[in-house]
Amino acid sequence: MTRRQIPVVERILSANDRIAANNRERLRGHGITTVNIMSSPGAGKTTLLLATIRALGEACKIGVIEGDVASQVDADKIAQAGVPVVQINTGGGCHLEASMVQQALNALPLEEIQLLFIENVGNLICPAGFDLGQDYNVALLSVPEGHDKPYKYPSMFEFVDLVLVTKTDVLPYMDFDLAEFRRLVHGLNPRAPVLPLSARTGEGMEAWLEWLEAAVRR
Ligand code: MG
Ligand code: ZN
Repeated sequence: MTRRQIPVVERILSANDRIAANNRERLRGHGITTVNIMSSPGAGKTTLLLATIRALGEACKIGVIEGDVASQVDADKIAQAGVPVVQINTGGGCHLEASMVQQALNALPLEEIQLLFIENVGNLICPAGFDLGQDYNVALLSVPEGHDKPYKYPSMFEFVDLVLVTKTDVLPYMDFDLAEFRRLVHGLNPRAPVLPLSARTGEGMEAWLEWLEAAVRR
């Protein structure tokens, strides 16, 4: 990057931060707890959200913003589960920005939502750099991706509030070292809990649901 381009990047980021602050104020005004979910493509974000919606059911009114490069297959699955959902298609963009979330909020029944999930675009790199107005950041890493990912994508693991290891039902078939993964995450981010779970079998879901319920009460 040339020196001339740096001020442009800074201006774009501060415009995003301004809109993110507006989103945050608006969401808190409605008493909504907002959780930004990030991972690589295929780590199980939508599957986890569907299992979470099933488990929390009537106990908590959930809404979802689905971010994808294209298509609305994930939003259709969430809609079938009976919760309000808005699809954002980034048209090739590899992360969500605050202005996209701002538009999605206009299309959601905010007075009917207590817990809002933002499913970010599948990408372990730049979603970490864009504030959307969320209260919490959660990173998912699936067992097939390997335990070394915090080495390769440190910025994602550095700033999140919680790390979920998904698809633990395939642990017996993979060389995934959970203790080593924990050690790497806590080397970057000592305060983030690391919770292993399988949305398919339900193993470990309890701890995730307890974390969510505490976040909503806070
Ligand atoms: Mg998805
Ligand atoms: Zn991006």
